[in-house]
Amino acid sequence: MKSDSKVVLVTGASSGIGEATVRLLAERGHRLVMGARRADRLSALADEVRSAGGEVEFTPLDVTDLGSMQSFVDLALEKYGRVDVIVNNAGVMPLSPLEALKVEEWNQMIDVNLRGVLHGIATALPVMKRQRSGQIINVSSTAGHRVWPSSAVYSATKHAVVALSEGLRQENPDIRVTILSPGATQSELAKTITHAETAEFVDRFREVAIPAEAIACAISFAIEQPADVDVSEMIVRPTASS
Ligand code: NDP
Repeated sequence: MKSDSKVVLVTGASSGIGEATVRLLAERGHRLVMGARRADRLSALADEVRSAGGEVEFTPLDVTDLGSMQSFVDLALEKYGRVDVIVNNAGVMPLSPLEALKVEEWNQMIDVNLRGVLHGIATALPVMKRQRSGQIINVSSTAGHRVWPSSAVYSATKHAVVALSEGLRQENPDIRVTILSPGATQSELAKTITHAETAEFVDRFREVAIPAEAIACAISFAIEQPADVDVSEMIVRPTASS
């Protein structure tokens, strides 16, 4: 284990940005704990990471359930005795215009993208306060800075992530807080869109999407700064995006 190896928890690690982040941070000598609902995917990724010499644990995780999130953090404490970083990455993006009234999808976005991040904070922050150190990385989006037709609820959840991260940072001078806002990135995210016209529009918007590894690199950069340096916000997007 390298001397500056950190214990890093990643939610939503079964695909896309979370999966790329686990792979890169394990390669860089950090010890990972990963969660998502699709445990079969996590198991395959754990096999791959371990066979490359990395250290990783995993458990099924539903971020909308506070008890599930508590078990996730408890696994890290049981296996490694501490929590240095939590990456609150799990998210869904079933975009649609408000008039389509996809109320269940609105609630799902609020539950995963907002409540899920709050559950990550609720369970990891007490551990970090006891340790007097830690880093909470919340994945927002360029949609946390802008609103497009069909993105109102998604953007609302991602704007909320920016706001609560800034409050968290100001209240806790002993904890590093990072807001990471990706632009279009290759992943499974757009598959959650059920509104046909929006799905077509988003497919075109995502033609320039960058690899998930680009976001993993940004996360790695934020983690590996010295303890007194907080990378408080990063936007990482395709060069060709508007
Ligand atoms: P993916 O769909 O590939 O990954 C989303 C991850 O979230 C999956 O691992 C999924 O796992 C997990 N997840 C969804 N619901 C839950 C839940 N209830 N509990 C636990 N895990 C859950 O998309 P991305 O990798 O792109 O998304 C990662 C983050 O990046 C999201 O927050 C997204 O909003 C954000 N983002 C992505 C952008 C992009 O263009 N890709 C742009 C801007 C932001 P499972 O289904 O197995 O639970």
